[in-house]
Amino acid sequence: MSTNRDTTTEEAASRVLVLNSGSSSVKYQLLDMRDRSRLATGLVERIGESSSRLVHTPQDGEPRERTGRIADHDQALKAAAEELAADGLGLDSPELVAIGHRVVHGGLKFSEPTVITDEVLKEIERLVPVAPLHNPANITGIRTAQALRPDLPQVAVFDTAFHRSMPEHAARYAIDVETADAHRIRRYGFHGTSHAYVSRRAAELLGRPVEELNLIVLHLGNGASASAVAGGKCVDTSMGLTPLEGLVMGTRSGDIDPAVTFHLKRVAGMSADEIDALLNQRSGLVGLCGDNDMREIRRRVDEGDERAALAFAVYIHRLKKYIGAYAAVLGRVDAVVFTAGVGENSAPVREAAVAGLEGFGLAVDPGRNAVRSGEPRLISPGGARVAVAVVPTDEELEIARQTFALAHN
Ligand code: ADP
Repeated sequence: MSTNRDTTTEEAASRVLVLNSGSSSVKYQLLDMRDRSRLATGLVERIGESSSRLVHTPQDGEPRERTGRIADHDQALKAAAEELAADGLGLDSPELVAIGHRVVHGGLKFSEPTVITDEVLKEIERLVPVAPLHNPANITGIRTAQALRPDLPQVAVFDTAFHRSMPEHAARYAIDVETADAHRIRRYGFHGTSHAYVSRRAAELLGRPVEELNLIVLHLGNGASASAVAGGKCVDTSMGLTPLEGLVMGTRSGDIDPAVTFHLKRVAGMSADEIDALLNQRSGLVGLCGDNDMREIRRRVDEGDERAALAFAVYIHRLKKYIGAYAAVLGRVDAVVFTAGVGENSAPVREAAVAGLEGFGLAVDPGRNAVRSGEPRLISPGGARVAVAVVPTDEELEIARQTFALAHN
């Protein structure tokens, strides 16, 4: 067995670095695509603050932590590169074949993972007005990685790509067509990498080809979205032009009467930017009860906190409405699949989301629902007409898989 990972030629050209750059954070993973193992994972958070933190976890070792100000994404990636180098996994290694970037908004142009050229980067920039929270951070991440390894293919994997199969009647807003087209206003959907991955894994769990299945996928993280997936293709999803539409989220309102925004402008005198900040950052669970972490909300509910109970009830009510809507869109549902931080970990959310939906063939077995596991699993009772499943998402693996496939073409 080799101790120095950089010396074996057998390992050559099998590593992919995946970068998920947020506005104040960078998540990274280095994967070996021969066996899809994680050689190292890391998170740099609170970039630009004095309390920045990097946590780096090598495959076979204990997490290492660095604290103290990390000024920008450039420093964040350099710090991550140093940690990787300390494990014999330096980014200057010839074994690194490509860097895959999560890019939130791909607009209409990108329905597939794409090698990043100047033109591609310009197009991602053009989409900043429709993804103001995300695309700028993604662009910074790409530029930083390009500066670090200009010789390597950098691949953009778009959150919107999986939803490009939505039929026009699901993608269109019912507004004046000329205005909509002039400003590229339509429903794009997000979390597509997760919805695609989870759909495939759910099919494996059910032991049936994804082409035969109608699935409702509920990606419930801090951001949250639902999708209706027929035969492995997205036919509807809850996020729209931006990741603001749809489910109640950690800090985002989800669906709201658009007239609320005019009202806030005309009556409350708020500017467009203030309304944007209200709906994206001070709404959802945090707006309703001051917390956006479902663990904390459940703890407060259990202590009898009324605001937390209301926030939970609003969250669940919206979720149920989407389950019902997508059952109607699909006509027949084979499985409802929970994923992401809340979906994978919160038994109370899963239980409440399907409570009372027995008429749709939906039920959760309390014992199965209570099991904590990192594996895909069924939580519906034996013999249920519609399967209810928990399938942990793995956006980084999916990004790495798509990046590797493209880099090898
Ligand atoms: P994102 O990628 O959108 O930031 P995640 O998918 O990581 O989000 O989900 C984060 C959220 O998951 C947290 O805000 C928290 O609400 C929820 N979460 C994580 N662990 C648990 C848990 N054990 N029980 C309930 N909720 C959890």
